[in-house]
Amino acid sequence: MLTDVFQWLQIAQSRRLVNEAWRDAASAQRAVEQLEQSVERLTLACAALWELLKESGAFDDDELLKRIMHLDLRDGSLDGRLNSGPRACPECGRKNGAKRTSCLYCGRAMPRVDPFT
Ligand SMILES: [Zn+2]
Repeated sequence: MLTDVFQWLQIAQSRRLVNEAWRDAASAQRAVEQLEQSVERLTLACAALWELLKESGAFDDDELLKRIMHLDLRDGSLDGRLNSGPRACPECGRKNGAKRTSCLYCGRAMPRVDPFT
């Protein structure tokens, strides 16, 4: 009898965990879909801007590819990302992620280095 109650409680707890996992997975799926839509819109905007620049005759695809590689290598790594890497806090000197606006350790505002980060 006691074993049955214990098993029933375990089953109920397992069901709750499964339901939570399903909700978390559905939420993550929605977030991924929103990110994909944002990336598609940004890609479309970049393609439109690039076509305008090419049509002006000022640039060509080779120049664009060279510039992409140049920007990619700014952080020392050719990884397809515009990431300036960790930055040292001007107050405490500890390393912070490139996108942080304030130091994780002391709270000091991190200076902006690049308008895209
Ligand atoms: Zn700091």
